[in-house]
Amino acid sequence: MAEQDTKVTAAYSGNEEVYPPSDSFRSKAHVASMEEYEEMWQRSVDDPESFWREKADRIDWFEPFETVKNVSYEPRNVSIKWYEEGVLNACYNAVDRHLDERADQTAFIYEPNDPNTEEAQHITYAELHENVCKFANILKKNGVKKGDRVTIYLPMIPAAAYAMLACARIGAPHSVVFAGFSPDSLSDRILDCESTFLITADEGVRATKTVPLKENADQALEKCPDVETVLVVQRTGGDIDWTEGRDIWYHEELSTVDAECECEPMNAEDPLFILYTSGSTGKPKGVLHTTGGYCVFTSLTHEYVFDYHEGDVFWCTADVGWITGHSYIVYGPLINGATQVFFEGTPTYPDASRLWDVVDKHDVNIFYTAPTAIRALMRQGDEYVEKTDRSSLRVLGTVGEPINPEAWRWYYNKVGNGKCPIVDTWWQTETGGIMITPLPGAVAQKPGAASKPFFGIQPEVVDNAGNIQEGACEGVLTIADSWPGQMRTVYKNHERFQNTYFSQFPGKYFTGDGCRRDEDGYYWITGRVDDVLNVSGHRIGTAELESALVAHDQVAEAAVVGFPHEVKGQGIYAYVTLLKDVDPSEELRDELVQYVREHIGPIAKPDFIQFTPSLPKTRSGKIMRRIIRKIAAGEFDDLGDTSTLADPGVVEELIDERKGMS
Ligand code: ATP
Ligand code: MG
Repeated sequence: MAEQDTKVTAAYSGNEEVYPPSDSFRSKAHVASMEEYEEMWQRSVDDPESFWREKADRIDWFEPFETVKNVSYEPRNVSIKWYEEGVLNACYNAVDRHLDERADQTAFIYEPNDPNTEEAQHITYAELHENVCKFANILKKNGVKKGDRVTIYLPMIPAAAYAMLACARIGAPHSVVFAGFSPDSLSDRILDCESTFLITADEGVRATKTVPLKENADQALEKCPDVETVLVVQRTGGDIDWTEGRDIWYHEELSTVDAECECEPMNAEDPLFILYTSGSTGKPKGVLHTTGGYCVFTSLTHEYVFDYHEGDVFWCTADVGWITGHSYIVYGPLINGATQVFFEGTPTYPDASRLWDVVDKHDVNIFYTAPTAIRALMRQGDEYVEKTDRSSLRVLGTVGEPINPEAWRWYYNKVGNGKCPIVDTWWQTETGGIMITPLPGAVAQKPGAASKPFFGIQPEVVDNAGNIQEGACEGVLTIADSWPGQMRTVYKNHERFQNTYFSQFPGKYFTGDGCRRDEDGYYWITGRVDDVLNVSGHRIGTAELESALVAHDQVAEAAVVGFPHEVKGQGIYAYVTLLKDVDPSEELRDELVQYVREHIGPIAKPDFIQFTPSLPKTRSGKIMRRIIRKIAAGEFDDLGDTSTLADPGVVEELIDERKGMS
């Protein structure tokens, strides 16, 4: 890569701004210095077998394993196995094994949607056990057997966690479909994994609205004749249609089953769940995760990355419909016996102080959310944060997208009062758990950098031809070798699995993300590989352009894409959302162009800036760049799969605005 290329981006991100962990934080941290981290990491990659053998002790096995790892990345013959002779049960590890010591400890603090009308509920490990056993018995009674796929379409109510754990208990892989998805998205996923059992609720609640889940499910099931049973959890008591012989009420079934249910012994490589990716880059993939390695990896990363200690109150704001909710609400933290907030609400209801109010109410120590939420709250103004206390917070985390340095600083200074390390965690549905992040007691943070690999993870930066890059460089992020939480296949499509992840760079896992590695060996995710721009021969990451725009004090959010440009190859097209009270103008447009030019370099000057009140996002809050790329290029007809969009109306508006520009 030409030397100029890295300069273009390095000039903006700079490496001067560094936030080392404080001495008081380090004095209690699991990993308390850079030296300690480096030594542990080196050992984990020099001798992965012994590292992962030792770490597997943290969970309970019914039968021990012999082989730690048995992996082939051979492009036409990919096979990934961890702890293959081992026998265990994920639900046993998350629930039963805690009963001796923490039966009366709170597992979940369920914080319902509306704090004015509903009380928070504390659910102990003993109660969790009882609820999960009963749920499992309901499944069994209604014909669900080991190996059957169960689809779960529930809002963020405790029954969602019971349902997942009940499936794990009886060995029926769950497929959770986020409750914000449409009937079509639900039916696609039910059909793809051939499930015959659906769990849903009458309605969900979000802020002041209800979500007609049962109605959506009824509509979806018109296309899924093989679904025999629909188990319905009552959330609101609203009116719903009922199909006799197919639909059953959870609360009625509860009184017919008992509270004891054995855990099914599962092989380490038996499927635990299927989960579809967000669909940012195309048709969602049915990611399959198995049992043993996933339990080891999620619980280990939860402990180290968040510096979790016994007694901490942990809060991950994700929905269980995403991998973040699977790994860092249901499995990782419960396996570690944690107490967690389980949040049904939204960040801005009743007002934009909601998250911080919940932090204060339950003395949350560790808080994990997404950049999209941080940017949205930042836009509302500081007063909503400032009127809360937040002194219980010790660690902050983010996941889902690169976090713009501007949003990072706000999170650090305003939310964390400048005393909480931020773990910017890079990972994917496919990776099962966190892969790159600064360990909070060991690694000094740089705003916007995912930083350093977790133990056992070996990132390799390659150029398009697959040549490994050394030292400070920019290119495609791949991972050499396997880790226990890795996905095992695309459900019923091993071919797609091999093609998507192992064919581009033989011998490595291809992440699909671009990255930069700086002089200190920190990794900066620059966006999807497809989104890295090539402007007059210079490679520019969209993430860094967006960060430059968001750094302007009148900009709330920005999304940058390339478009075909006769002279430059690719031109730069920026969609910009302004702060609440700022009006778009030609002067501001010129000012922004100038601003980016000054902050990154003349080469990075946007060719077009389109002001827009909102951007198309996936249901998990990620900007859908493949759609705005097409709109920028003026290709309005073939936008591809839009089923995972949160609000399809935004697309129409963008197209209208775009048409008005040319
Ligand atoms: P699909 O694979 O269907 O296109 P998706 O990639 O959005 O959907 P996820 O698995 O939910 O589905 O998201 C993983 C992606 O999110 C990563 O590949 C990366 O692009 C982005 N990402 C996640 N965390 C971070 C982070 N901390 N920094 C930068 N990017 C991140
Ligand atoms: Mg992806």
